[in-house]
Amino acid sequence: TPDVRSPSEVPVDLPGHELLYTGKVRGLYAPLDPATGERDDSRLLLVASDRISAYDHILDTPIPDKGTVLTQLSLWWFDQLSGVVDAPHHVVSADVPAAVAGRGVYVRRLRMLPVECVARAFLTGGGLAEYAATGAVSGVRLPEGLADGSRLPQPVFTPSTKAPVGEHDQPISYEDVEQLVGPGLAARLRDLTVTILRHGNEIAGRRGILIADTKVEFGVDPHQLADALGISAEAAMDGPVDWAAVDPDVVDVVLADEVLTPDSSRFWRASEWAPGQPQTSYDKQVLRDWLTSPASGWDRSSDAPPPPLPEEVVQLTRARYVEAYENLTGRPFTGAATTPN
Ligand code: ATP
Ligand code: MG
Repeated sequence: TPDVRSPSEVPVDLPGHELLYTGKVRGLYAPLDPATGERDDSRLLLVASDRISAYDHILDTPIPDKGTVLTQLSLWWFDQLSGVVDAPHHVVSADVPAAVAGRGVYVRRLRMLPVECVARAFLTGGGLAEYAATGAVSGVRLPEGLADGSRLPQPVFTPSTKAPVGEHDQPISYEDVEQLVGPGLAARLRDLTVTILRHGNEIAGRRGILIADTKVEFGVDPHQLADALGISAEAAMDGPVDWAAVDPDVVDVVLADEVLTPDSSRFWRASEWAPGQPQTSYDKQVLRDWLTSPASGWDRSSDAPPPPLPEEVVQLTRARYVEAYENLTGRPFTGAATTPN
C-alpha cells in the first residue's frame, strides 16, 4: 500500500522497517537486517507523530513539528539526566531514515514494566482530587490548606496502571506497585521517578518553567530478564512475567519512552504560577481556550469530536512547543537530529 498520509503522521511504509504498533502519539518499528531481511528484535525505531490531544480527544488537526520537538526535547533530557539519574536510558542513535529525521530515534527494545511511574511536585488534577477527598496522595499524607497549584513539600510518587488501549490509567497505591513488581523494583521505580522530576525542576526552574508532574516509563533488557527468571527470551519479551521474582540487582532498570516533555508532563510558566486556581498550560492553553470558546462551536460535554483547528490556533500552539524547547535547552529549534552521548 502506498503511504498516502501526511508527514505529520508516522509512515505506514518505512523501507527497511516493520511497523509493529501505533500508539496514541508514536509509531514503533522493528529494523530489518539489510542483508537477510530478518527482523532485529533488539532495537526499536520510535517515531513521534504531530498528533495532539485535548480534553481526552485526539484532534484531527496535527501541530506541525510537534513530534520533532518532543523527540528532540527527550533526547536533550536523556543527556541532562545521565549521570544524575542512576539508570541507563534506552537511546541508541538519532541517526534515522530521512523520512523520519528529527522525530525518530533508535532505542533498545525493552520489556516494559507494568507501571506508569508518575511523580508530582505540585498539586493539581487527579492528585488534587485525591487530596481534597483524603488529605493524602497515593497514601502520602500532605499538609492541610494546599490549593490547586500548590507546591508540595517534596515530590510524591503517584503511580498508575498501564491501561489497555482505549481505557484510562488508574491510580494505584505504592503497596499495589510492590504487589505488581516486588518491593525491590518498586523502591527503585519510586526513587528514580522522584529523582527525575526533582532534577528536571532544578533545570527547568532556572529557565522559567515549572514541571508540575510527569510520567516516566521503565523497561528491562529481555535477555537479562530471561536469565534472571530462567525463561526464554521470547517469553521475556511477550509472555507473562513474574516481576516480583526478579532480583532488582541482577537486571538494569532502563529509562525508556519519552522524558519530561509537554506530552508526559504538565509545564507551567513560573511567571504565571498562582496557586488557588487552575494554572494555565504552557503548551495547550491556546488550544483549550479556543476549543471551549464560542468560536469553536464545540460542546465539550457532548460525544462529538472537536472540530478542525483554525490555522491561527495551529500556529500559536506550534510556537508554544518550539518556545518550550528553546527556553529549556537554550538552543534554537532547527528540527535537526542530535545524538546524546
Ligand atoms: P501513553 O498514552 O501511555 O503514552 P501510547 O500508546 O500513547 O501510551 P505512545 O507514546 O504512542 O504510547 O507509544 C509509545 C509506546 O512505546 C508505549 O507503549 C511505550 O510503553 C513503548 N516504549 C517506549 N520505549 C520503549 C522501549 N525502549 N522498548 C519497548 N517499548 C517502548
Ligand atoms: Mg506515550
